[in-house]
Amino acid sequence: MLARITSALGAIKTGSDIAKEIASAQTLDGIQHRTTDLFGVMADIQQQLVSMQIAYTSLLDERDALKQEVSEMKRAMLDRQQYVLHALPLGGLVYRFRGTHDRADAAHDLCVQCYEQGTKSVLQPNGGHLICPACKLKLKAKSGASPAARRGGVCLWTL
Ligand SMILES: [Zn+2]
Repeated sequence: MLARITSALGAIKTGSDIAKEIASAQTLDGIQHRTTDLFGVMADIQQQLVSMQIAYTSLLDERDALKQEVSEMKRAMLDRQQYVLHALPLGGLVYRFRGTHDRADAAHDLCVQCYEQGTKSVLQPNGGHLICPACKLKLKAKSGASPAARRGGVCLWTL
């Protein structure tokens, strides 16, 4: 980009020099000859400006994409702070939702394996186990019966 700007500035200087020569030309033939040169320089400047405009638009798109990525990373970091590593009574680790007053999320646990890879996967009760729907990790839960089954089909999973 900087090389293009330097090149365009050089072409503008050349065009300016030609314009000075035209202004001080003594013959019509000299004016016509340098006018053709001036048009060539102007076309070169126009082409360089179009090229810079395309590069600038590309940089703006890249900047916007990076801003979006930073915003998503900040949001993910804040979200990760809502969880704490927790050992299950029958073994195995999960990231447990801390539960804050300003969030109305239901109590839940995340898969440690997926969490460490940057994926938020909520463990799901399945019989006497908790299953990760993403990586299929299986952890033993408190009892063999499904909590939903013990509560008459209402799923209020707690460990
Ligand atoms: Zn997982």
